[in-house]
Amino acid sequence: MTTQKPSLLTAEGLRKPKAKIQTAIDAVLKAIQLCEQVQAEMVSTDAIQKADRSPVTVADFGAQALICQAIGDAFPDATIVAEENAQALKENASLLERVTDYVNRFWAEAHHHDDPDRGTATKDTSPSAETVCEWINRGSGEVGTNFWTLDPIDGTKGFLRHDQYAIALAHIVDGVVQLGVLGCPNLPYRLDPTETERGCLFVAIRGEGTQLYTKTGELLEQVHISETVHRFAESVESTHGDSDAHAKIANALGITAAPVQMDSQAKYGIVSRGEASLYIRLPNPAYPDYRECIWDHAAGMIVVEEAGGTVTDANGAPLNFLTGKRMQRNRGIVATNGKLHQHVLKALSNL
Ligand code: AMP
Ligand code: MG
Repeated sequence: MTTQKPSLLTAEGLRKPKAKIQTAIDAVLKAIQLCEQVQAEMVSTDAIQKADRSPVTVADFGAQALICQAIGDAFPDATIVAEENAQALKENASLLERVTDYVNRFWAEAHHHDDPDRGTATKDTSPSAETVCEWINRGSGEVGTNFWTLDPIDGTKGFLRHDQYAIALAHIVDGVVQLGVLGCPNLPYRLDPTETERGCLFVAIRGEGTQLYTKTGELLEQVHISETVHRFAESVESTHGDSDAHAKIANALGITAAPVQMDSQAKYGIVSRGEASLYIRLPNPAYPDYRECIWDHAAGMIVVEEAGGTVTDANGAPLNFLTGKRMQRNRGIVATNGKLHQHVLKALSNL
């Protein structure tokens, strides 16, 4: 029943979105709606701690269910490598009920516009808790020659603080990111105190640039890096990087502005829009064994690259998305406007 789907590699761009691109965009837009609804109605039991003590919420599970359902239904052979799985939900009936409730709300709405022949559930059947778990577990694929990677909520700590967070979906073929869809529900249209509108979606297609949409899917603009702005971005969470080293690099580059501290891959978004010239993420010395996850960087990386910037590891090598869920050989990430890149690498080698 699988029909031949067009290849992303031949995509003509967003004016004529191909099935894969449109499916990804629609799924992330739906997930944004779910996340915002959960955030507005959040109760304390909606967030739990994972084994590594990082938080996960009803919204993480719900967003992953919606996106994996959409991709899996449209492309039954797709491999998805996503951050969450349904194990914790199967052990927590009330949490699973909450997730199922939200997925039902947003899935149902999406489904009415869809082809009723498509999908694991029919128009009249609301997905059961079991189906929701199955959708979430569609994200348990392995890294390979052609796969999607998904962080349903990147920056869950930011989400809980009502700060920045992102829904990050990328498609990777032969180790190269071909598509990145990065939803930033709380990100202002411009990083300017007078800007009142917020809710951004970055869409980057290899070879075709990065476009900025509103969270309701209206095109705002094609985005480009800036070669004149001198500001760097780093995580809000001091344990997620090495802020002393970041400051030294900034100093060596003559950057005097205070860093923009922001959660999630929204940092890549602001580099792509020319609001920061550098996003730097060096390993925190207290966590020498921590390795970056592919879903924390794949979508953001192509958003910056297609806007004219450069993203490498701390040695100047391309990010390697083929060593598994974690970038085993990576020891730091540098995303710049391109112009600064060699200067940053030089400053790093002098650290
Ligand atoms: P950010 O919002 O930029 O701080 O990034 C959030 C991500 O940081 C989460 O998705 C985690 O996967 C990741 N993370 C957790 N612990 C660390 C760590 N010690 N170093 C770097 N990243 C981490
Ligand atoms: Mg993350």
